[in-house]
Amino acid sequence: MKKKKYVYYFGSGKAEGRGNMKDLLGGKGAGLAEMTRLGIPVPAGFTITTQACVEFFANRKRFPKGMWEQALQDMKRVERAMGMTFGDPHRPLLVSVRSGAKASMPGMMDTVLNLGLNEDTLKGIVQKTGNERFAYDAYRRFITMFGSIVMDMKREQFEHLLDEVKKRKRVKLDTDLDAGDLKFLVAQYRKLVRQETGREFPDDPYEQLRMAIEAVFNSWFGARAVAYRRLQGIPDAWGTAVNIVAMVFGNMGETSGTGVAFTRNPSSGERRFFGECLMNAQGEDVVAGIRTPLPIEALAKKVPSAYRELLRVFKKLENHYRDMLDLEFTIQESKLYMLQTRVGKRTGLAAVKIAVDMVKEKRISKEEAVLRVSPDQIAQYLYPIFDTQAEGAARSVGKGLPAGPGAAAGKIALSPDKAVEMRAKGERVILVRRETSPDDIQGMDAAMGFLTAKGGMTSHAAVVARQMGKVCVAGCEAVEVNEAQRTVRIGPASLKEGDHLSISGFSGQVYAQDLPVVSSEVIQVIQGTLPSGRSQKFRYFATLLNWADQFRRLRVRANADVPEQARIARGFGAEGIGLCRTEHMFFEEDRIPIMQSMILSRTREEREEFLNKLLPLQKSDFLGLYREMQGFPVTIRLLDPPLHEFLPKREDLMVDIARLEGNNGGSVSADQRAAQINEKRKLLARVEELHEFNPMLGLRGCRLGITMPEITRMQVRAILEAACEIAREGKKIVPEIMIPLVGMVTEMKAQKDLVRKTADDVIRQYGVKLNYLVGTMIELPRAAVTAGEIAEEAEFFSFGTNDMTQTTYGFSRDDAAKFIQFYMTTADLCPNCHGSDVDKRSNTCRSCGFVITEQPANIIEFDPFATLDQQGVGGLMRRAAWDGRHTRKDIKLGICGEHGGDPASIDFCHRIGLDYVSCSPYRVPIARLAAAHAVLLQKKQNKEKDI
Ligand code: PEP
Ligand code: MG
Repeated sequence: MKKKKYVYYFGSGKAEGRGNMKDLLGGKGAGLAEMTRLGIPVPAGFTITTQACVEFFANRKRFPKGMWEQALQDMKRVERAMGMTFGDPHRPLLVSVRSGAKASMPGMMDTVLNLGLNEDTLKGIVQKTGNERFAYDAYRRFITMFGSIVMDMKREQFEHLLDEVKKRKRVKLDTDLDAGDLKFLVAQYRKLVRQETGREFPDDPYEQLRMAIEAVFNSWFGARAVAYRRLQGIPDAWGTAVNIVAMVFGNMGETSGTGVAFTRNPSSGERRFFGECLMNAQGEDVVAGIRTPLPIEALAKKVPSAYRELLRVFKKLENHYRDMLDLEFTIQESKLYMLQTRVGKRTGLAAVKIAVDMVKEKRISKEEAVLRVSPDQIAQYLYPIFDTQAEGAARSVGKGLPAGPGAAAGKIALSPDKAVEMRAKGERVILVRRETSPDDIQGMDAAMGFLTAKGGMTSHAAVVARQMGKVCVAGCEAVEVNEAQRTVRIGPASLKEGDHLSISGFSGQVYAQDLPVVSSEVIQVIQGTLPSGRSQKFRYFATLLNWADQFRRLRVRANADVPEQARIARGFGAEGIGLCRTEHMFFEEDRIPIMQSMILSRTREEREEFLNKLLPLQKSDFLGLYREMQGFPVTIRLLDPPLHEFLPKREDLMVDIARLEGNNGGSVSADQRAAQINEKRKLLARVEELHEFNPMLGLRGCRLGITMPEITRMQVRAILEAACEIAREGKKIVPEIMIPLVGMVTEMKAQKDLVRKTADDVIRQYGVKLNYLVGTMIELPRAAVTAGEIAEEAEFFSFGTNDMTQTTYGFSRDDAAKFIQFYMTTADLCPNCHGSDVDKRSNTCRSCGFVITEQPANIIEFDPFATLDQQGVGGLMRRAAWDGRHTRKDIKLGICGEHGGDPASIDFCHRIGLDYVSCSPYRVPIARLAAAHAVLLQKKQNKEKDI
């Protein structure tokens, strides 16, 4: 039997893998293989596959059979290619070990450099370089990285020792320490490892390698990686690859260096090489932000031959990949080595610009351009952002997780109270905390954005930020808050409360300065405050979306209740209204008293009196909507919520009555007070009558219109009278009247007959020709299962997936968030405080001290109220759509639950053949792009099937 291949070698111009093997080799491994094949200088190495990682977990954390032996064989090939030997004291080969999943996952695991060092091989390095300082510096860096990443120690403990030595020597920079200091430090570090872990620091290079590979595999289920995957929708099943690459050194003097570069500007998309380098440095120095890197152009003077070679490589790679690339390189004594290439991460603005520019440059097709911009990226056009030039010129002092999109700049507040106080003075505030808790909510409300040292994408700060629409950077480890002294250190910056800070919720970058924030140009154009011709950003945005429109099949409508929302929706390209929730119109100040009087009425006649007062108000709302929609369809839903929602709360009324009863004096007479008490008591009695134990499943939806037909009659009259007036003006209008919460065909028929009779009367009175449709929401499982029957009566279905998710799972849509969070957590999160700072050795939460005996189970991978549960709720939809069409060939099918604006759910709606999705006005551009993606991805999949 052929042995399973777990390890792929690359080196000396030959590679076993290639660029299109990302699934197996991860992005990094595939990139290294492809660069090697292209003849680009890459140090030799090998990649352990994602499959090996998957089997490692399936195999109770044991390497799959044969993997280690294959790694050892390839290590021999690397030794031959590099002319050095792993563990040899004379010519030691050192390697780097890095994770590399199919999709780039920042913050998942750092790199371990210089692996293979011990007291013996160190001597070989000293001999080879003639530089003892260099060798000990490499060794102490290695122990720090290995200790913190592989042996689960705290990096700060090593840094603390380093700081002590620097203090003792009275120097500021690491580079000011001499070989003797570093030798001393190495001994201290080894002692620290012994104390903290109860074991010696491993000296055997092969043991180091084995442990590092295991650590990379384990990092796949680390809290940060899991949280990142949940947010990005990356499946747990992918696993990560591990790359083991021969070390080359950028810190061997002034003709050595290291850097990162992009073939185009990743924040603005501008077509110009963009990057930074540090001379005489290793990769981690660039990331740590301790020394200030030089712009890449500086290399032209420092090492001209390497700079020329770098430009040649940039061009070759961009031509080959036809995309903007992110590159890492090291120059060892004037010789250039490429260490990584991958398609570069970019802001949404850059993504659109690069995609559109590349079509103009004839490098890619419009289809490719549309596919290259994710719906989330197009959403970035709608958030406030930093001025791109200012951000480009700024130096970041730390980086955390981009947990709440947008850009925020303001003054630092270190406590919620301070945030409130500063806000009251009219200041823009950034709340900086170790982590946030529910008690901080007022301070969070007062702040423009939050920065936390701890926590992941689903931490308290992150969740609250997204709900409140605030900017958030979470889990930024460079942040050290000292609340007592009212100071904070962020990487190299020492700041105090009141100092300026800027945070980017797109990239996670933190800047110790006040960066200018600009509001979205696209929104300004849509709102009519900026002419479209003056906004290059709008032009790019519109170009890409127009291309998307050429491919999509699904129509995109908006959920809009008032004319202003409808206008914004049209501006974003909505092709109609998919849901107008008429109840929202009754909440307005001048209407709610009439609505309440209607509800309090005892007889139909009385109710009709108040409904007649509401009629002209509703009619004028509908006229506004029709006018904004200029002939596009408008779906209006009849009253849906339980009536008590329009009445005051029972508890509030009781308090009011008690207060009136206790207040004998005061400005009103005893008679007046008695009348007021009487009024309130009547109201209370009605509120108590209407009280339901489970109002979501009570007297609501079509049940209202069936028990109180006069409500349906009034609403239909308003819808039709407004439509007839539009028709009289000679304009096109086809209102769609939607019955909510239907569960049985008999309910549908009862309401439909009433609607038709009322509508036809109005049309006759107006003497116009007008077409209208009557349909229903499908939002109950029974409706979905009997959709074939319901379609006998309904001319359209609109899936109400909010209620459908609630009723299919039996999860209350208002209360489920608490346990859904818990259902989505997985290993490494504390089940007590949900913090992510768990000491894996003792299974103890460092935040709350809880000892974890049972890990929370990973029960669901996503929140079904945000992303459609395709199997359960989606299964019902698929069946209902099919049965509905079977009964009525031309039935119109749409969705108007929140999922109508979620890209993954839109893809599903496309695949089950819906006609349109309807979402909030601001999500219309996202839905347009997602609908195009659905078509293009399906096409791609079909093509792959054919091959
Ligand atoms: C739904 O249930 O999906 C829906 C759109 O209706 P509402 O959210 O108003 O209940
Ligand atoms: Mg509903």
